[in-house]
Amino acid sequence: MGSLQEKPRLRLGSLVSGLQEVYESGRTRELAWRRSQLRGLLRLLSEKEEEIFEVLRDDLGKNRAESYRDELGALVKSVNHTLRNLGKWAAPEKAQAPLVSFPATALVVPEPLGVVLVFSCWNFPLGLALEPVSGALAAGNVVVLKPSELAPSTAAFLAATVPRYLDSEAVKVVEGGPEVGEQLMEHRWDKVLFTGSERVGRLILTKAAKHLTPVALELGSKCPCIVDYLDGKRGRQVAVNRIVGAKWSVCAGQACIAIDYILVEEKFAPILIGLLKSTLKNFIATPECMARILNAKHFQRLSNYLQDVKVAASVVHGGSLNPKTLAIEPTILLNPPVDSDIMTEEIFGPLLPIITVKKIEDSIRFLKSKPKPLSIYAFTTNEKLKRRITEETSSGSVTFNDAIVQYVVEGLPFGGVGHSGFGQYHGKYTFDMFSNKKAVFKRSFLIEFMFRYPPWDDSKIRMLRHVFNLNYVGLLLGLLGLRR
Ligand code: NAD
Repeated sequence: MGSLQEKPRLRLGSLVSGLQEVYESGRTRELAWRRSQLRGLLRLLSEKEEEIFEVLRDDLGKNRAESYRDELGALVKSVNHTLRNLGKWAAPEKAQAPLVSFPATALVVPEPLGVVLVFSCWNFPLGLALEPVSGALAAGNVVVLKPSELAPSTAAFLAATVPRYLDSEAVKVVEGGPEVGEQLMEHRWDKVLFTGSERVGRLILTKAAKHLTPVALELGSKCPCIVDYLDGKRGRQVAVNRIVGAKWSVCAGQACIAIDYILVEEKFAPILIGLLKSTLKNFIATPECMARILNAKHFQRLSNYLQDVKVAASVVHGGSLNPKTLAIEPTILLNPPVDSDIMTEEIFGPLLPIITVKKIEDSIRFLKSKPKPLSIYAFTTNEKLKRRITEETSSGSVTFNDAIVQYVVEGLPFGGVGHSGFGQYHGKYTFDMFSNKKAVFKRSFLIEFMFRYPPWDDSKIRMLRHVFNLNYVGLLLGLLGLRR
């Protein structure tokens, strides 16, 4: 069986040692095995499509189209990309060897790390689980996946299905909550990829220190979106389509790279708000067009933002909440206090504050005063502004004139910087994250320079100087005794 419900410590111990044995057997290193796992994943995604739609609706009220766009389709695209490129990624890469070592060959040989652990989060419970797992398998590792207990239908689906489509001895799904997560972290792993909150990320890092386990943390942040004064009617509408799509149609704003708040010039704010309202009316015409808030705790967390009197007074659109259905209307706020909770904590929901600045360039100073986010978005045609944002701010990614879509560009690394986390994945970056780049240097016995060994004298230092300054003419003359 490849799936375990919460089990006592001892059971996890034997699970880990069993996985180590599988890894030591060497079968996961074979490219044929890795490819068969990726094909198994593709089969799972295709044959279980309907079940996937069901569990995502169950856990988060996601529409089939949203589930396909954000999780299933994106995964299929990514796994196919990995399958197509695996041979190239796994091949040894030639590196330059210094002339003085001639004849020699320098190679970078990717090797699997071993037994890796993946913690996933509830908001993209399929994508954030299987995207890293696919890369870890492509790199030849054995894997434990700990899905989020807060998306229980998807977690149960993964636990029941993964062992049937993948090598059930090499890939395990361990269900459970924080206690199981903590128990897992008592063991030694060759790598842990954690997606979730900063608070739990700190715990993971602390526990990992005990075994010197390398960790990648994929955390959250407040992702800002700068909206410049846009002149053209079409440009304005396209920008607003993309903002509304990114904020409200992607898990109702419960996404780590969702637009958290907007920065806009005072004079453009009323135009932007008008367009946001009309576009919302078209896009989120019925409640089924938007996912729901995960649970009562998150509903309460989001309601609390609006309890602040000054924040409530800043609502210019929406604002209604239904605790019975956990529904929160898409809500726009204009200039809530910048020291209020809604402007200091990650929102992770369908509330969108708009902060006005006198000149759009002022937004750069505003961003620089904040922790480095996962993503910065800017809608502008001003090349100078784009350059300044790219050069003067720091974030995991910057996207101009769109939002969220950077997630599905396999050629781009995905990850945070500073408080938004560390360790980048997606595409080849996932393969690299779960590989050790082993340096292999091959020499021959043909040429031997005795000046590298004692007993020392000044001429040996001179020769060494030639070597380190890449002065091969001096070196040759010195070896021939023509220059001292
Ligand atoms: P969380 O941190 O509570 O949980 C994440 C995972 O950790 C789950 O599998 C959970 O079971 C496990 N866990 C919880 N407590 C644990 C403990 N004490 N020990 C070990 N494991 C434990 O997740 P959350 O707070 O619900 O997630 C929301 C956060 O995740 C947001 O900040 C969001 O931005 C971030 N996030 C980041 C990304 C990304 O790719 N960077 C993606 C999605 C979500």
